[in-house]
Amino acid sequence: MTALDTASDTPWLDPDGQTPLVQIKGVTKKYGDVTAVDNVDLDIYPGELFCLLGGSGCGKSTLLRMLAGFETVNGGSITIDGVDMSEVPAYDRPTNMMFQSYALFPHMSVEKNIAFGLQQDRIPKSEIKDRVHDILALVELQDFKKRKPQQLSGGQRQRVALARALVKEPKLLLLDEPLAALDKKLRKQTQFELANIQEKVGVTFVVVTHDQEEAMSLATRMAVMDAGRFKQIGTPTEIYEFPESRFVADFIGSANIFEGRVTEDVADHVRVKTEVCDVFIDHGESVKMGSKIWVGIRPEKIRLTKADKPAVGENQASGIVEDVGYLGESSIYKVKLSNGQIIDVTAPNQLRPMSRQHGITWDDHVNISWEPSSAMLLNS
Ligand code: ADP
Ligand code: MG
Repeated sequence: MTALDTASDTPWLDPDGQTPLVQIKGVTKKYGDVTAVDNVDLDIYPGELFCLLGGSGCGKSTLLRMLAGFETVNGGSITIDGVDMSEVPAYDRPTNMMFQSYALFPHMSVEKNIAFGLQQDRIPKSEIKDRVHDILALVELQDFKKRKPQQLSGGQRQRVALARALVKEPKLLLLDEPLAALDKKLRKQTQFELANIQEKVGVTFVVVTHDQEEAMSLATRMAVMDAGRFKQIGTPTEIYEFPESRFVADFIGSANIFEGRVTEDVADHVRVKTEVCDVFIDHGESVKMGSKIWVGIRPEKIRLTKADKPAVGENQASGIVEDVGYLGESSIYKVKLSNGQIIDVTAPNQLRPMSRQHGITWDDHVNISWEPSSAMLLNS
């Protein structure tokens, strides 16, 4: 049973409920002139699988290393399980770190690699045996316990590293790009395994990744980072469906973005005048009348029809197909709108390409349209 099952599934929405396991307040880290982490605040709850997501150099690893105690904090504070960490060295923290390189001992068997940390801690032999046995079962490596790391596949090595980190029963496991060494297909499979194992043990994980799909599939919540700051914190669905800025909308998935001004703002809808059309949005987020704003629409949320079919409803524009890319499972259409802007529309290929679903191709005049619930309001 995981910690998230025992209480509410969304403890972050309940300020009077569970105490966060990790409390990061105004944390800053500078290396000379470089501010690697810039005044971030974050609460992580017991049982979460929290992802720090962002491009290379945005400060993810630095923040993780400060949680582990491998880096000092220049400003702000970190509290883990109610204890201020400022005076607590790495080896006394209730944390463990799993490195990208796995750092397994090549001359030791799987079993011995996993037992090593417990022996260092002078845990009684019989207890070590039991704990190693249980953790091998958890990561499904019982049949491989006598092998050396080089006799394992990449995915198996990754599970040994995970077992070695978990066997020490940390309250918080820190993972820096844990799947980076695996090829794409194996990564996808391993993402599910990692999430399943985390759910079984209920240990709180903080995972650093630059891969948005990985964060989306793993995380209970994630923070999108840029230049040492958090751009947005939320569940994968919140981040994908309700990004607050152009940066987040474009970093997670892709988005067609139209600049406009708010012309109507009432409880149940918002209207934004853009060069392309008047956009009607049926979720009344709070926006300022007359203010400059951006509307984002994801390529898969746009319907594409031939211009000779009459268009229905709100939120539509017309254009010409400039390009079509066949991606196998879907096709991407580049549509040039009357204002010259080229937008992306994607559609799944439910039929074989000879009879392309829409029958839409190069130079066709088309209508685009989308549901009032599909547009995203972006404030910056
Ligand atoms: P990420 O993990 O998101 O790729 P890092 O946290 O490793 O980013 O780095 C953030 C910034 O801090 C980068 O500009 C990097 O060059 C810098 N940095 C990280 N570690 C050090 C260090 N030990 N000394 C100097 N600069 C560092
Ligand atoms: Mg890093």
